[in-house]
Amino acid sequence: MKRLEGKTALITGAARGIGFEMASLFAAEGASVAIADISQQDSEAAAADIAAKTGAKTIGLGLDVSKEADCVRAVEETAKAFGKVDILVNNAGITKDNLALRMKEADFDSVISVNLKGAFLMSKAAAKLMLKARTGRIINISSVVGQTGQAGQANYSASKAGLIGLTKSLAREFAPRQVLVNAVAPGFIRTRMTEGLKDEARTKISELIPLGRMGEPGEVAKAALFLAGGDSAYITGQVLAVNGGLYM
Ligand code: NAP
Repeated sequence: MKRLEGKTALITGAARGIGFEMASLFAAEGASVAIADISQQDSEAAAADIAAKTGAKTIGLGLDVSKEADCVRAVEETAKAFGKVDILVNNAGITKDNLALRMKEADFDSVISVNLKGAFLMSKAAAKLMLKARTGRIINISSVVGQTGQAGQANYSASKAGLIGLTKSLAREFAPRQVLVNAVAPGFIRTRMTEGLKDEARTKISELIPLGRMGEPGEVAKAALFLAGGDSAYITGQVLAVNGGLYM
């Protein structure tokens, strides 16, 4: 039995990287999936690719998660295509790294706006349907650096720590209607976001990780699948770390 049979999922930032792996896995587990990313073209290409691989129903949507009207429209289009929204994954994220004293105000604002405000806006739009349906799952993709801090990432780590607070507050607000809200906090995962790291930095990072290697996008997707499916029905307001033991 597939674990998400009959469910519908909306995943942001899903045209590539971790979001794409989650969309692929959820589709393989029987869900209909809306792939929402900043480029409509990339979203549609990813949706077609996943539909061809899995046979699942998919749609590709263009949106900027930092804009409320885009978030409302993405939820409406998903509900129109599939009839409901059972699962929302707030995965879209950006980095604009610099040491704090060199960080421009605009670079602080844009990272908070996409990573944190975007998750709030998407959750607000999707929760309207979920609360009415008295069921739903919201999964926020945070980061290990939201738990530990990271030099050069004041904006990013603040946004990811903020997501943990958002997760816990929404979990408390939505629990009476059986809408569960959890976060996944990945460590260093091999995607485009980390491929810019120099070999030396990669080796140093791997030495700090108890399991001795960076993680794969599919390993984060499996954690999200657990939080999206029936096996996590008594879990809300939690942060599931997928970091090879980097932070305990
Ligand atoms: P990625 O490959 O860069 O994918 C992120 C996707 O989000 C991209 O397709 C990007 O589009 C899209 N996006 C950016 N701004 C957006 C916006 N305003 N509205 C809608 N979509 C937007 O990154 P990833 O490594 O898979 O990361 C996915 C999530 O995991 C992020 O939240 C990230 O912070 C988190 N995470 C990653 C790691 C890691 O090691 N990779 C570790 C911890 C947490 P464009 O590329 O076209 O701009």
